[in-house]
Amino acid sequence: MDWQVLAAMVARDRGLALREVQATPVGGGDINRAYRLRIDNRQFFVKLNREMLLSMFEAEQAGLAAIAATGAIRVPAVVASGCLSGFAYIVMEYIDFGGRADAARLAAALAAMHGNCHARFGFAIDNTIGTTPQPNGFLDDWIEFWRKRRLEFQLQLAAANGIDSRVIDAGYRLAADLEPLFGDYQPRASLLHGDLWSGNQAADQAGNPVIFDPACYYGDHEADLAMMELFGSPGRRFFEQYNDHFPIDSGYARRRDLYNLYHVLNHANLFGGGYAVRAGHMIDGLLASLG
Ligand code: ADP
Repeated sequence: MDWQVLAAMVARDRGLALREVQATPVGGGDINRAYRLRIDNRQFFVKLNREMLLSMFEAEQAGLAAIAATGAIRVPAVVASGCLSGFAYIVMEYIDFGGRADAARLAAALAAMHGNCHARFGFAIDNTIGTTPQPNGFLDDWIEFWRKRRLEFQLQLAAANGIDSRVIDAGYRLAADLEPLFGDYQPRASLLHGDLWSGNQAADQAGNPVIFDPACYYGDHEADLAMMELFGSPGRRFFEQYNDHFPIDSGYARRRDLYNLYHVLNHANLFGGGYAVRAGHMIDGLLASLG
């Protein structure tokens, strides 16, 4: 990367003087190469990937902008995304993280974000979940959205990836019969982060919750809550507080695996191995719960 050129663009955008420029690698990302870009005494967070993946950063920018527009929770402010010296880049505000967010503050902020609703389920642009494409074409019906845009999309990829056909066949049987898991429950189309595992949330130095690296769309808020429980749990206090702001339907526990199945199938498609077995167990459990 030509850091001088990138820094000059950022400096121009932000009205900064350009005396000293320094880029330092930052660890922790799964997908992109991350850097802290220092321009004089100001810091920016930069992610780089191959040029052909610019649309991934454009979608991240759109998601961060959608969350920022709610004013409900802090996200890094994006400066720009684009291509330079053979790389796709996204430049955003650098946030000094100060550990994990307080459960009650995170609950209130997420519930407020989820209170921002759309008339339909989906998002104005497609994005990615990990490196997998995530189609977001709007649909009126949530169950149809989850079936077509989430489960069946991953099942198609799984078939192409040679994942055990028994898992895939059972997945299609489940996808065809989701209605009993919903009963009378009619989810709202809430603005979701979309990839809310513990690695994509933190607090800033003032203790404000911060979320980042989203895969946004408008959908059932339970999908975000479920993912927070997929690799660890935000704890009881989080759910109690969240429920005070945005009541959680009594059927959530029945649907949690349905929502997390999407992410486990995605992990099976990205990493293979035990995730396909885990997806198979989740599908069997959900099919059994249909009675
Ligand atoms: P990837 O897209 O590769 O998964 P992330 O967006 O998750 O990368 O960022 C990688 C790591 O960099 C995160 O785990 C976090 O610790 C840190 N990070 C992310 N965003 C910022 C930011 N705006 N400011 C400072 N550090 C950040």
